[in-house]
Amino acid sequence: MYDLIIIGSGPAGLSAAVYAKRAGLNMIIIEKNPVSGGQIIDTYEVDNYLGIPGVNGFDLAMKFREHADKLGAEFVDATVSGVECVREATDTQAPVYKVKTDNGDYEGHTVLLATGAHHSKLGIPGEEEYIGKGVSYCATCDGAFYKGKVTAVNGGGDVAVEDAIFLSRFSSKVYLIHRRDELRATKILQDELFGIDNIEVIWDSVVKEIKGEDKVTTLSVQNVKSGDESELNVDGIFVAIGIHPSTDLFASLVKCDENGYVIANEDGITSAPGIFVAGDSRKKRLRQIVTAVADGANAVTAVQDFLVGKEK
Ligand code: NAP
Repeated sequence: MYDLIIIGSGPAGLSAAVYAKRAGLNMIIIEKNPVSGGQIIDTYEVDNYLGIPGVNGFDLAMKFREHADKLGAEFVDATVSGVECVREATDTQAPVYKVKTDNGDYEGHTVLLATGAHHSKLGIPGEEEYIGKGVSYCATCDGAFYKGKVTAVNGGGDVAVEDAIFLSRFSSKVYLIHRRDELRATKILQDELFGIDNIEVIWDSVVKEIKGEDKVTTLSVQNVKSGDESELNVDGIFVAIGIHPSTDLFASLVKCDENGYVIANEDGITSAPGIFVAGDSRKKRLRQIVTAVADGANAVTAVQDFLVGKEK
């Protein structure tokens, strides 16, 4: 029986592990992926984490993990299939939750949901068919395969612009396809993007279909203002249209908003007593490493307060 079971080993989960170990909580952290760090392991460069400008995302994730390891955090490699309440909380008694996984069940008095978010899909013909054959969601993972080739990035946020900049170092030509006439990405990234010769932005346009034979060869692109459709010859497309919270498993356990984000304030307290949330899966304004790390710390403080005076 644990005081705290943390699900997810991104920045929020790892920060929570550090705070939980320092607070003397009996805890485990369950991670699905073979490498800790969540979304940042795919990030080429993180330039807004205080004190470490220009750090590689994977390197930063390794530092986070080393910190948790140094304090003796116990990691379990497993995929969670559900969380069940086996004993309700009362004013005097802590609840008991069973976390079910493909590597056994674990029981704890509190659970921290730090499952983050995953890449959204376009949902257009050809997308599923060509995943790994020209359709990718991670430029830093797959960009090097497109040396001297023509690539496209779909999206207008920080990730899409970062991906286009990154790909421009390998690809002969990069198209950035965005559905509006202005980018959502931060100005500093936009300034860098507009200064790169082999990047062409295709404004006001959406990808309607991804076509190919063995691999992607062509995109059907539609201008949303004129309605005109055209074909674009590319060797690959990187989809960067945002993220979706990884909270489907917990939808009946805690209150979520219409987009699936778990509703909680900075303290991470959810609608279910003893269940806490931290990081990108929480409903909040800004999803960044710094806010995920802060969430993890705040949630553990709330866990400690919750357990005070409660019989276990
Ligand atoms: P995002 O900021 O939500 O941007 C998603 C982009 O995709 C938007 O431009 C959006 O268009 C477009 N889009 C959404 N659905 C679409 C669809 N069905 N078809 C075509 N386009 C679609 O997502 P993100 O870029 O993945 O970033 C996620 C979070 O991580 C953000 O908070 C971001 O600031 C943060 N991040 C920060 C950094 C950094 O600071 N270094 C780096 C990476 C990510 P509209 O603009 O028209 O809505």
